[in-house]
Amino acid sequence: MVGTEIDPQLSALLGDTTTEIDVARKNRVFCNRNLRMETIEMIGFDMDYTLALYHQDKLENLSIELTLGKLVEKHGYPEEIKGLRYDPSWAIRGLVVDKLFGNVFKMDRHAYVGRCYHGFRELTQEQRRTTYRNEKINLSSDRYEWIDTLFGLPEAVMLMTLVDWLDRAGSSVDYAKLVNDIRQAIDEAHRDDTLKSVIKADVPSYIIKDPLLGETLHKFRSSGKRLFLLTNSLYDYTNVVMSYLLDGERKAYPSWRNYFDIVIVAGGKPAFFNDTRNFLQIDPTTGTPVLGSNGVPAEVKSLTRDKVYQAGNVLAFEQMTGVNGERCLYVGDHIYGDILRLRKAHMWRTAMVLQELEREISVGDRLEAQIQDLDLLDRRHRNLESEIDYQQLRLKKIGRLLDDGTTTPPLRTRLDDERRSTKQNLDELRQRSGLMDAEVDSLEARIDRAYNSHWGSCLREGNENSRFGEQVNDYADLYTSRVSNFGPYSPLRYFRAPRRPMPHEV
Ligand code: IMP
Ligand code: MG
Repeated sequence: MVGTEIDPQLSALLGDTTTEIDVARKNRVFCNRNLRMETIEMIGFDMDYTLALYHQDKLENLSIELTLGKLVEKHGYPEEIKGLRYDPSWAIRGLVVDKLFGNVFKMDRHAYVGRCYHGFRELTQEQRRTTYRNEKINLSSDRYEWIDTLFGLPEAVMLMTLVDWLDRAGSSVDYAKLVNDIRQAIDEAHRDDTLKSVIKADVPSYIIKDPLLGETLHKFRSSGKRLFLLTNSLYDYTNVVMSYLLDGERKAYPSWRNYFDIVIVAGGKPAFFNDTRNFLQIDPTTGTPVLGSNGVPAEVKSLTRDKVYQAGNVLAFEQMTGVNGERCLYVGDHIYGDILRLRKAHMWRTAMVLQELEREISVGDRLEAQIQDLDLLDRRHRNLESEIDYQQLRLKKIGRLLDDGTTTPPLRTRLDDERRSTKQNLDELRQRSGLMDAEVDSLEARIDRAYNSHWGSCLREGNENSRFGEQVNDYADLYTSRVSNFGPYSPLRYFRAPRRPMPHEV
């Protein structure tokens, strides 16, 4: 479009798209594995935290308040816990809860414990080493709980606050029970409608309405793609949320239902991808299964536009829609529930919505100069360390020559002089290295704090990806901060993964 006058009406009619260069980095769609949108026939969407982004602070406060209520009323915790301050900055996505010790930690790319807190106290490197013995963390063990959805953040905040409070009270604490009680209470709040009834009564306070969502979905549809909704939420909640997001947004789509060719609620992901549960047709007015003439739920033989379905499984879905796995793209927010199974079993292509990405990119952009400084300092530090290694070797060699009885007296004198100057040199290098070390640490801490004062970036840990960042890398073909970021791209776009150098290529 460079150098030409843009006629907005004509552009709209022709469905013109901008080039990537016009899209701000925080609103781009990033690619881990090449994907030709042209080959995609169906696009499925998860609802919560994918189509419907939440005002995180509001939802978190509400989850905490309701969970505390249940802890007091049902699990016998003292009323006092309601008066503690629960600071949301204590949690980010990708943390792991250790039920045995009541600790919360972040993992690096290789699944080793990075930083770790007990209550609000950070464990020293030594304490970390003795507790986790430099072992890889096995997330499938019952001992650990992986917080990989934004719904889970309040659990970490509550655990850390309550561990701090209980430890200070001096009594012995059954950490595993505490973790399980919190889990059970928040699980109940999600299931028994306490949480959803509050949201339903005031949707705008909890859910972010994206004015570009309708247009984005329309663009997919007008390029010939079939869309479907596959959510774990039940129909009544789905209907309220989706109506708020999409009803009346575009003339051609009076209801949110008009955007989707198939609507599946209570999908039970990840079981939807592993199990063989049948699809049920439900009556949207009651949310209950439609019964056949024999009084049992009717068998679903096809998935049609005017109906709403519940449960089901991926194989039956593919059979009834005739869509082959590689031609289906699923957009979700949850690595475990939405993304991992699909990728491990090489089923559908995947796009992950990472609500945090916008902020991560903005912080990264703001700190660009400091991050470059850190890189430079880090490189210089490495050079200095190899210089120290070299001088140490030299000193050892001089020592060996001096110990060797065959050295002549004049050579001994020269070697003695050399030893003195090498030692002095080494002392200076070590001192400079120490100062640089401290400088690297302080710059690293400053950069980290800009992301999150306790945990740093959710995608990075130290010099490399965090475990969570690595999972996004491994399992999400595409990732972006919101669905409407697809809007400016052509629906036929060939998303290409950037070339990733190996360490020997850098
Ligand atoms: P989806 O992301 O659209 O598939 O929906 C996620 C659903 O899972 C929402 O209805 C959440 O309320 C629900 N959910 C999230 N966390 C929990 C939990 O711990 N227990 C039960 N349901 C949950
Ligand atoms: Mg979701």
